[in-house]
Order: sequence, then structure tokens, then C-alpha cells
Amino acid sequence: MDGVGVSAEITASELPSQWPWGIFAGLEESLRLLEGLPLTVRAMREGTLFRARSRQGIPVPVMCIEGAYASFSIYETPLLGFLCQSSGVATMSARYRRAAGDRRLLSFGIRRAHPAIAPMIDRSSFIGGCDAVSSVIGGRTIGHPPEGTMPHAEVLLFGDSRRAFDAYSRSVPPGVKKIALVDTFADEKSEAVAAAETIPDLYAVRLDTPRSRRGSFPSIISEVRWELDARGFADVRIFVSGGLREEELPQLARAGADGFGVGTAISNAPVIDYALDIVNVGGRSYAKRGKYSGAKSVFRCPSCMEFDVLHAGNEVPACPSCGSREENILHTLIDGGRRTAAAESPDAIRERVLAELGRLP
Ligand SMILES: [Zn+2]
Repeated sequence: MDGVGVSAEITASELPSQWPWGIFAGLEESLRLLEGLPLTVRAMREGTLFRARSRQGIPVPVMCIEGAYASFSIYETPLLGFLCQSSGVATMSARYRRAAGDRRLLSFGIRRAHPAIAPMIDRSSFIGGCDAVSSVIGGRTIGHPPEGTMPHAEVLLFGDSRRAFDAYSRSVPPGVKKIALVDTFADEKSEAVAAAETIPDLYAVRLDTPRSRRGSFPSIISEVRWELDARGFADVRIFVSGGLREEELPQLARAGADGFGVGTAISNAPVIDYALDIVNVGGRSYAKRGKYSGAKSVFRCPSCMEFDVLHAGNEVPACPSCGSREENILHTLIDGGRRTAAAESPDAIRERVLAELGRLP
């Protein structure tokens, strides 16, 4: 069967939790897996915003593979593994990015996952829109130094917040932004003022207030902002963390939060349930029940961000809603086993995500 040529495509018939869109991620690892095989691979560029189904309800292929089935069949499982989990994390990160607006968003979630996948989680969080990651290997993966804050452990070991702030201030290497935790022993308001008074170049305070003490978290934040301002510390920012839900972020931002540390929600994002299906065997289009046979062209309206899936070879259509000329969204990235372009940097992919989020109606 080695010589049997097929066309196969990867689609997600639906997205988790009825998400209206997803972010396609995990492409770079997939291309490294497939390059060198006798295949042609068309795919969306990494970081592309996609929908599970076209306007007509047809599942939208994110990747199409053509070539001898036997050459890639053994890679189906790792290929889907790369795409499913990376895309889930990148999509959740992008959802938090939208909710956070222009506030800083830090990815803190690797401690909730197996260390073997920390680089994937941090890279996918970053390209999805987080501003920074917290692991050394994640920082190396994305090409930006990791960011973090002082831990509660330090305050507990010193037994006194001011002494801990002072030791932290003197031990942080030059150039690292100093962010003091202000919820360990006393009220956030008094600890924030103490941190600002103790650390001359304090960048931010971080409120990781336990749920049992929160009452109104927005009120605590606005009170801290007020007291810092009253004492001449208007340039000290306020970061918040601790099981933040996506829908809470806008209200916390209005109350004065300048940044958010998000952990489990992003690192433990649901996977996107892509499947790989054969749609053509030996030049004959057919597919299993429930799937659409044949090679396809995939177009997206740049204004509506809606998709049209057509039989391969169709002309680029005009959007039926707004009349814009649609864009061909699948690019030939491996041609006869050879990659057609250099790998994109995490920064470039992240810029694509931010630009496409900005185009969502
Ligand atoms: Zn349109």
C-alpha cells in the first residue's frame, strides 16, 4: 500500500465550550515532524484565527496533506497532539488577551502541568497574546526573559513583610522589574504602602488575595490604587492573580488593575478536538460518513472573519455579506518534502494573533 496517494485534512467539527473561534497553533512542531517526507502540506499560518465551520456549515480544514499514506500514517497521533493542545492553550490565551484589553497579561500556569510540556504551554500562551511567561525554558523558547514576582514563601520565611520587601529589593538583579506580593499577613492596602515605601524602584504590587478574603476584589484594588496615589506612588502598578476568570478581567481593569497573572485557566485549557480524515484515495474523492470528500480551497473574509470552504480550484470568492475579496487561507508550507519558507518567530506569530483579534467584528 506504500504507493497509494491520498489527500487528508485536519478539521475540528466543533470547538470546546461553544467558542466562536480558535487560534491555530502547534504548526511549527508539526512541520518539523512532516518535513522530509514525500508530502505536500497546505496549512493555515500559525496564529490564524479560524472558525470550526464555514458559513455553509462545512468543517474548515486547518491543514491538508497530500502524498503516500504510508509515509505519514504513523505520525497521525503526534501530529494531532501537537495541534490539539497548542491550539487549545493559544485560544484560551487569546480569549484572556481580549478580556484584559491593554493591561499586561502574564502566563503563570506551568506549575499546573507536567514539566515536559512547559515549553509548549509557555510558547502557546505567548503567541496567543500573553505578554510574558514565567519559566526559564519558556523564556528561552519565545526569546524573551521570564517574568515573575516575589513568592509568599519569602515573606513567610522573613516573618515580616517590610524585611522581606527590603531583602527582595536588594537581591533582585538589575533590570528585573520588582513586583511585591502584598497579601501575606496584613491588609493589601497597608502592605502595598509598606512595599512602596521600602522598595525605591518598585514596579508593581501583586494582589493574590485568597477567595475567602476577597469580598469585593474590585473594591480592594481601587482602594489600594487610592492609597498608593495619596502617598505619591502613582507610578506603582497593581497586578492581580489567583484563579481569575476571563469574564472578571474587564471589571478588575476598570477598578485599577494594570496586569493579570493567569495560571490554570490557560495552561489547563481544553484541547481543540481536531481529527485527521482521508478525503481522496488514488485520485478518487470519497470520505467516511459525516465527512466531506475531496480536496478543498479555504477562504476567509478579512472583514467578517467568516470562512467559505469550496471545492479545490474555485476562484477566490467575494464575501456574500460585505463584498470584500476573501483571502486564501491555506498556504503550501511543505512542497515535496521541502519547507517553502523559514520558521516564523514566536513574536511574528503573536503579532498575527493580535492583528486578527483586532479584526474580529
Ligand atoms: Zn465579509
